[in-house]
Amino acid sequence: MGADEVKAAEGGLRIAADGAAGSYFVESFIAREPPSAANWASWGSATVLVRLMPPAPRARSSYGYAACAMLEVCSLPSPRATGACAKANPSFADLHVHLGRDREGRPVKVTASARLTLENIFPAAERKGLHLVGLVDAVVPACLGHLGELTARGELRAVPGGGYVRDAGTGRARPVVLLVGAEMEAEGCHYLAYFATVEELADFAAVLHPTLKNPSLSTQATDLSPARLARLVHGRGGLFLLAHAFTPHKGYYGRHRSLEETFAGGEIDGVELGLSADTAMADGLAELAPHPYLSNSDAHSLENLAREFTAFSLAAPSFAEVCLGLRGEGGRTILANVGLDPRLGKYHRTACGMCGFVAAAPPPVWECPTCGGKKVTVGVVDRLAALSSGPGGRGGDRPRPPYRRQVPLGFIPGLGAAGRDRLVGVFGSELAALHLAAEDELASVVGRRVAALILAARRGDLELAAGGGGRYGKVLQK
Ligand SMILES: [Zn+2]
Ligand SMILES: [Zn+2]
Repeated sequence: MGADEVKAAEGGLRIAADGAAGSYFVESFIAREPPSAANWASWGSATVLVRLMPPAPRARSSYGYAACAMLEVCSLPSPRATGACAKANPSFADLHVHLGRDREGRPVKVTASARLTLENIFPAAERKGLHLVGLVDAVVPACLGHLGELTARGELRAVPGGGYVRDAGTGRARPVVLLVGAEMEAEGCHYLAYFATVEELADFAAVLHPTLKNPSLSTQATDLSPARLARLVHGRGGLFLLAHAFTPHKGYYGRHRSLEETFAGGEIDGVELGLSADTAMADGLAELAPHPYLSNSDAHSLENLAREFTAFSLAAPSFAEVCLGLRGEGGRTILANVGLDPRLGKYHRTACGMCGFVAAAPPPVWECPTCGGKKVTVGVVDRLAALSSGPGGRGGDRPRPPYRRQVPLGFIPGLGAAGRDRLVGVFGSELAALHLAAEDELASVVGRRVAALILAARRGDLELAAGGGGRYGKVLQK
């Protein structure tokens, strides 16, 4: 967006700020720099991030941050700013969240945190600043039963289009909407499914469960073929996606070279980029051009919610709207994929399980030059470099939404849990603090040093060490 356009938009605007549509006075644009990877102002030609004069809804700071509101500037004289825009809302969706324990305290995802429970997911998602959460262990019998009871008692309320909100709301203009779904393993790879209602999910579960050894655990292997799974999901109105498509363990492209090896076409509603890969890397596979990309956290703990998420423009958060957003229909769209710098992902580079070597040479690297160890995990970037068909991606009138890199607050050196609590208290959510707050205001809450690191993270200026072999990358302290 050029400077003139920004000027034209300053003043009174009709916008939707975190669910509360209305007229607000735009005090200032947060991001004025020219578009860059770290600059949210370049999220689509008619989208900017602005700070509002009070009274912004539910704002806790004196200033009035709309909690991580990303606003469509409807008054811009832009060809895109018409019709559909007026009812569009930015919705931040993390659609890959596991369940650590069921309500009896039994493990569901064995490797996940015991605090990752159905009850705890809602407040944690609010604290992050999310609007949509996809629970991929909702298909487990204990969780299905729990969800059924909560909906029968009215404690979870269905929203139009599919998905659920807590009835005892938090007073938020836009309560977190839960989508119900499943992560499944078929022929050695992971897939994701989502449904509009608990009933449709239960109907799917009735077919799935007899094919699993232990349905009470997360992400179990079925003997159904992936194509058959997709048909069962679609037969119940669901969505079917590749989970963490490029990871060496259980990612589709960790095992296959092409979709043709498994699918006839039309089965896939989207591709989850997964930690360790971004849009540019995935676009090296030309066959992915028709498929939308999703960014999700694959969270195994409450802290990791929203470390990656997809920013949609939807009329309201719901299952049906996400379907429209994935297809880019009715003015609904994906505004951006927001995710880790791929170098922070734990399978980014080839790594050796024997000596701890992590590749630094240009990809692809296939072996450990240090100890010659056999326990080498091929990195996502190395695998993709080998599979790449050259510059693929999309062009023309259907360009890919941008990939926005973020360094979650949990990766910022010197910022502990207490500091993050203070940031949420002042700015309303972690995402608001991470992406919106001004440096001097951050400094007054967590000190100059951490504030400078958060700003550097926003600009993409932090020095990072690449992850690999199951170990996350990290921010290097200068
Ligand atoms: Zn998985
Ligand atoms: Zn998962």
